[in-house]
Amino acid sequence: MRILLIGPPGAGKGTQAVRLAAHLSIQHISTGDLFREHIDQDTELGQNAHAQMRAGLLVSDEVTIGVIKERLARPDAERGFLLDGFPRNPAQAEALDGILADSDSQLNAVLDLGISEAEVVSRIAGRRLCRKDREHIFHVDYSPPEVAGACDACGGELYQRDDDREATVRKRLEVYRSETAPVVDHYRAQGLVTTISALGQVQEVLDRALVAIGRGRADVSGTSDC
Ligand code: AMP
Repeated sequence: MRILLIGPPGAGKGTQAVRLAAHLSIQHISTGDLFREHIDQDTELGQNAHAQMRAGLLVSDEVTIGVIKERLARPDAERGFLLDGFPRNPAQAEALDGILADSDSQLNAVLDLGISEAEVVSRIAGRRLCRKDREHIFHVDYSPPEVAGACDACGGELYQRDDDREATVRKRLEVYRSETAPVVDHYRAQGLVTTISALGQVQEVLDRALVAIGRGRADVSGTSDC
């Protein structure tokens, strides 16, 4: 199965992506994570991407498309994948269409996480990530770790992403509105988009996502076909 997860920063994409991919036994591929790995390894690509990321801006299409093309070509992506954070603009969407066409494959679904901007700002301010495993995400109020500052799963140190500060979040929302929202229209025209509410408990949103892709219980509300 090949799925795209789209939504503004703070909609819970990362949280849902990890769970959905595990549930479906497909690869979770996040361009943000790929860039953060480059930053940790202090590669040239990472150093260049970091400046854009800190400013809440998009990394260039050329670099981003190169990174995703390389990732999708790895054998583990053949069994299916869930893309989180890519494509972020119509040019990237067209590039992805081309990459998929070249490998004779296509997307099965595009999940669009719906949430208001006010909710996004409040959610992101409290978001903390595990520095060690990168998979686990907490919120100081809504889903706090058992021990403050430590990951429940591996004990790793929790930190706030430097692009999660309020001024950067507002910039990222602006970028989302102008550049990423049109991607939803691109896939809507292909009949692939389902918008689900990103509000509620993590499990509720996951259930809605599973229903939207035909893998869940049918008695979950908050899903609307577009
Ligand atoms: P994310 O973890 O998806 O919120 O991404 C964090 C940051 O990485 C974004 O604010 C961008 O600066 C950069 N980034 C991630 N994915 C992309 C993409 N598809 N195109 C351009 N920049 C990206």
